[in-house]
Amino acid sequence: ASPYNVEAVRDDFPVLGRTVDGEKLVYLDNAATSQKPQAVIDAVSEFYEGYNANVHRGLHKLSQEASEAYEGAHDKVAEFIGADGRENIIFTSNTTEGVNTVAFGWGMHHVEEGDNIVLTQMEHHSSLVPWQQVAKRNDAELRFLEVEEGLVKDGEVEEKIDEDTTAVSVIHMSNVFGTFAPVDEIIDRAHEHGARVLVDGAQSVPHASVNVNEMDADFLVTSGHKMCGPTGTGVLYGKTDALHETEPYRYGGEMIKIVEYDDATWADLPWKFEGGTPNIAGAVGLSAAVDYLEELGVENVHEHESAVTRYALELLEDDDEVTVYGPHADYDKERAGVISFNVSDAHPHDSSQLLSDQGIATRSGHHCAQPLMREMGVPATTRASFYLYNTYEEVDALVEGIETVKEVFA
Ligand code: PMP
Repeated sequence: ASPYNVEAVRDDFPVLGRTVDGEKLVYLDNAATSQKPQAVIDAVSEFYEGYNANVHRGLHKLSQEASEAYEGAHDKVAEFIGADGRENIIFTSNTTEGVNTVAFGWGMHHVEEGDNIVLTQMEHHSSLVPWQQVAKRNDAELRFLEVEEGLVKDGEVEEKIDEDTTAVSVIHMSNVFGTFAPVDEIIDRAHEHGARVLVDGAQSVPHASVNVNEMDADFLVTSGHKMCGPTGTGVLYGKTDALHETEPYRYGGEMIKIVEYDDATWADLPWKFEGGTPNIAGAVGLSAAVDYLEELGVENVHEHESAVTRYALELLEDDDEVTVYGPHADYDKERAGVISFNVSDAHPHDSSQLLSDQGIATRSGHHCAQPLMREMGVPATTRASFYLYNTYEEVDALVEGIETVKEVFA
């Protein structure tokens, strides 16, 4: 048995103690954003209470302390995802900003007319829409690896990635199904053809051990706010040579080396991508979040979450009135804690509303994957997504909540 002590973990998260209209909160919307442990809340407060100052430039003591914390947060994240060092880590406000930096700073300058850009059918809008813009402006073709039940179909990688592929942008873990894309195979194939690969790690980095060097990703983006960090935090990782090929996307203060009236040169990595005063408090909080996750062990978190998810899948699949999308409990490969489902004739929005009335937070909608929903033939789903503090009892509460949905719509 794992030594994972979920009750102790829960005690670290103040919000989990609250009630919702008299019902105990059951928070199952972790794929959207995670809750924050006290250690992260404290780190942010301590920054504002003790050493709030702008970074990089100041010679005064507070600025030095703030700079050390801010720059050190880059080192911490680098180590967490297996990057070489801080020059490979750019802080963003979220995954969306990271993808836009790559699409506009790299894609616009390297994807040429007649090239193709390969994505999967299950991309989040944030890693689809920016590439649509690149394809339109540069007359490139968008290609999609077809997906069935959350899995890229056999043969797709070989068929779609070819000598005209310049960029591949691939969701690592699906926010709709909890499944993983075959990134190793995709990256190998793309590199054989000289293409760069961006991995959308918004869901994978918070929930599974990710090592960018082993994976050999050229770029990887993720959201700090989904991994116990503050909102307004995100990370863009890039290989050093890939970042040198990338133009800054935000010009201004802090990202320059020498400025003349008619031209300027750029600061060293990673600062050339961090124009303007950054989210210093956010970085300090993100650093505390990484400490927190490392202390628990991401592998332990993943194992716990997988067990809770499997339990939920078994119960939901037993119910004829519940349709689960994506692989089922007997799926023997790695998957993480996201379950999309619909309850008989209930509209997903009604399901989420009725669940919310019982204190259970789920999300219903297209999950920023409208084309995928069309492909699946449903307008929307209800999504329950688990994280390090969710329990088997909360799964029971969800299943009981679904009984109420069924009764209302019987
Ligand atoms: N990609 C995936 C797979 C996601 O799940 C999300 C968040 N739902 C995003 C990208 C976008 O993240 P953010 O809103 O932090 O930019």
